[in-house]
Amino acid sequence: MNVQDSHQYCNQHIALIGYGVTGKACADYLLAKGANLAIFDKADLSKQLSENHQQASTHKLHEQSDLNAFDQVVVSPGVNLCQAFIQKFKATGKPVIGDIELFAVENTCPVIAVTGSNGKSTVVDMLSKAIAAAGFKVGLGGNFGRSALTLLDQGFDYIVLELSSFQLESTHSLQPKIACVLNVSPDHIDRHGSMQAYTDAKLSIYNKADHVIYNRDDEKTFPLKYTNQTQASFGLQQIHSESATAPSLFQNAEGIWINTNLLLSAAKIDNVNQHQLLNMQVVLACAMHLQLPLQTVVKSLSAYSGLAHRFERVLLEQGVEWINDSKATNPGACIAALESLVSKNKAIILIAGGDSKGADLSELTSFINQHVSLLILMGKDKHLFTHTGVDFKLANNISQCVEFAQTAAYDLKLSEERDVAVLLSPACASIDMFDNYQHRGNEFAQAVNVLAKEVVSP
Ligand code: ADP
Repeated sequence: MNVQDSHQYCNQHIALIGYGVTGKACADYLLAKGANLAIFDKADLSKQLSENHQQASTHKLHEQSDLNAFDQVVVSPGVNLCQAFIQKFKATGKPVIGDIELFAVENTCPVIAVTGSNGKSTVVDMLSKAIAAAGFKVGLGGNFGRSALTLLDQGFDYIVLELSSFQLESTHSLQPKIACVLNVSPDHIDRHGSMQAYTDAKLSIYNKADHVIYNRDDEKTFPLKYTNQTQASFGLQQIHSESATAPSLFQNAEGIWINTNLLLSAAKIDNVNQHQLLNMQVVLACAMHLQLPLQTVVKSLSAYSGLAHRFERVLLEQGVEWINDSKATNPGACIAALESLVSKNKAIILIAGGDSKGADLSELTSFINQHVSLLILMGKDKHLFTHTGVDFKLANNISQCVEFAQTAAYDLKLSEERDVAVLLSPACASIDMFDNYQHRGNEFAQAVNVLAKEVVSP
């Protein structure tokens, strides 16, 4: 950090847009730096302002809010930058930044930054655990857990950041030691306007990185424009032309490999899905670049039990497995979940629907057509799934989804003579019916468990 940067907020008139978890962390930071802060939110903040933010002025945010008198605007990730009042401010040439930019200007600790449409939280969680197991002090935050700003000056050896496309579009100074784009599939198109804009936001994570890790099976993750970085790649298939400076990891039934070296034997991990193995490849690629002891990393990966609401088994009873994948808020995550079940030869009942966020559902639709036996649909965009050619039922709430699934599951098991999976993997956001994806997943698990008790005690 240079001296000019460290003082750049002092006495500046800064408008902070959004007062959620990130907004509050920005307010802490900017007030401590001596900024004159004005906080804007759609909600009335007069009674909600934290004790330590009382010196900030509060304003109700509306379409006509005029920000032009401010020196800078700091946005929360939830704020759409296309809105007129932001665009008008941008036209003045003054900066619009987010919490990650505030963090990046001051941070001196090596950062491993991870983005992608799916798998970010899982990868950063696994990676931070592996780094800690190797004996280093590691901070974890960004779009996962705590705001990156709370990780500054904590004496960490490494900081692992999960970054969303929204955070990346308001960041330009981040210089990660390692940057990774896991995958790019349609998501948040309603916010970004186009798939290209969304992809560009994701790829900007590579801009100032020393080392880049990309997905060989997903062209949208390729770091084509950036040539002065070392690279590693991961993917399903082995590729030839292995080079010591650009290692390529791959996986097969025996585990995760680099060249002819088996890095992680499948025998050491219990029943891991294909996409989880890909996530583990990323952790191993990071570990190799950081020169962490690989045996320790492998031990940490082997012990990893996964995050809640990500392809999480709720119940397995009489050959019917109930899976909570409520965090599947886009088509890519749902396809990954379906692929896992197809590889296990399960007959599939899929519970889907919610707010599709303008995503292109065509790839998912044809996957459903080929592999799903029954669709149970709910939420605002349920009609988008009714043309897949698969039998469907429309439900009003999650308990009804579970009831429909239970009625169908045992018949399906008999007729198809194979085990059945009932998969909640909505491919949509939850906010049209639930507080968040956790709420949706918890309601599902609760309904499944109630039903299980009824089945056991007639
Ligand atoms: P994110 O933080 O990017 O939303 P999560 O780890 O929370 O990622 O997982 C979100 C959804 O994506 C879950 O449904 C999970 O099962 C699925 N998922 C995890 N890893 C991958 C991957 N590598 N590719 C596709 N889907 C994945």
